[in-house]
Amino acid sequence: MIVDKVKIIIKAGGGGDGAVSFHREKYVAAGGPDGGDGGKGGNVIFVADANMRTLMDFRFKTKYAALRGENGSRNNMHGKNGADMEIRVPAGTVVIDADTGKVAADIRAGDKKTVLKGGKGGLGNARFANAVRQAPRFSTPGRKTGAHEVWLELKSIADVGLAGFPNVGKSTLLSRMTSARPKIDNYHFTTLAPNLGVARVEDVDFVMADIPGLIEGAHEGAGLGHDFLRHIERTRMIVHVLDISGSEGRDPVEDYKKIRGELSEYSRTLAGLPEIIAANKTDITGAEDWITLFEEAYPERKLYPVSAVTGEGVDDLKYAIAGLLKTLPSPEAFEEEGVIEEWEMDGGTLTMDIRRDEDGILNVTGSLIDDVFARIDPEDTESMRHFHKLMEDLGVIKELKKNGAKDGDTVRLGSEEFDFIE
Ligand code: GDP
Ligand code: MG
Repeated sequence: MIVDKVKIIIKAGGGGDGAVSFHREKYVAAGGPDGGDGGKGGNVIFVADANMRTLMDFRFKTKYAALRGENGSRNNMHGKNGADMEIRVPAGTVVIDADTGKVAADIRAGDKKTVLKGGKGGLGNARFANAVRQAPRFSTPGRKTGAHEVWLELKSIADVGLAGFPNVGKSTLLSRMTSARPKIDNYHFTTLAPNLGVARVEDVDFVMADIPGLIEGAHEGAGLGHDFLRHIERTRMIVHVLDISGSEGRDPVEDYKKIRGELSEYSRTLAGLPEIIAANKTDITGAEDWITLFEEAYPERKLYPVSAVTGEGVDDLKYAIAGLLKTLPSPEAFEEEGVIEEWEMDGGTLTMDIRRDEDGILNVTGSLIDDVFARIDPEDTESMRHFHKLMEDLGVIKELKKNGAKDGDTVRLGSEEFDFIE
């Protein structure tokens, strides 16, 4: 089940371009090359925000872009790196590449993960100077980046799920134990909205969810069962709430067995979650006797006697929960995360089109060519040599061959024409 789902567009910053420049000083005739490198583009980073519980904000703002690196400039000035774009999401958010459906990142509490890397900066002409090539009149462009559509899916919202029959006191206990009420208006639960609260023990916050109506037959899809059960599967532990007073004709020993059965019927994951048992309503007479009966039935289980109404035992319960949470490993990742590499832009978003016209000339067009051409001097032999190497590196030569280019063919690139030599 997806609790909340939105689609957004993210884009890493492109790299800044390398500069072509020559040192100039009064009375110095010809200085050396001093064009600096371009800055790196900013990354797109997802950060878990402990104060966020929903993806609602993303309904109003859907485009997130990191900044482009600045271009290099004269005097070997390196362009400034583009600022990262940090996108804050609630813990439990999974970032999915909309094109491939692959998981790019599974953001858990405390996580900060780079999903898109900024483009590398281009090199300034100073980099290309050597003993034989003293005045390179070319630089390289920064790497371009493309926009990506990603789904954000919020799959888990609570650390602790409260389970138990209706009227045992789950909601009352939740409001006793927690202060902050995360915003849950418009919450996209198909059945019932869970009651959420943030509990604080010393400096540790955890989110508790009241699981309303975990009732008999829930695993068969009756009542509110399924969606919510699937959702709480990702909580880290369960607080099993019993009405230990046996009020309203309840039998807490039997109730415990039934809810346990309900959980394991539904899923092994859920049944396998660590559990703390809260024996609620201890302020009502009869509680003592039921505690004894329960301990006889389940001698290996520890009970935490509480009264959600008087507040007795609530602090002990809170500390026990926080203590247990501390020992639990962070929940297992949803799926392999693995799109990041693929998304590393490597000139990949630059476009190139090759077409032979009626005169037999191979026309190469597209942003890749424009980009490279903007930074070379066609009158300069060294530039052109560099240009040819770039054409090789960027795969243009290979593409030309694929398009049937043969020795002696004319190739038109931008404003220039060349003979194709294999
Ligand atoms: P839930 O259905 O499990 O969420 O139960 P509620 O929190 O709505 O509580 C059901 C009823 O039990 C309400 O009338 C509460 O006031 C009452 N209740 C809850 N906890 C206690 C308790 O510790 N002592 C007493 N005496 N009543 C309680
Ligand atoms: Mg309730």
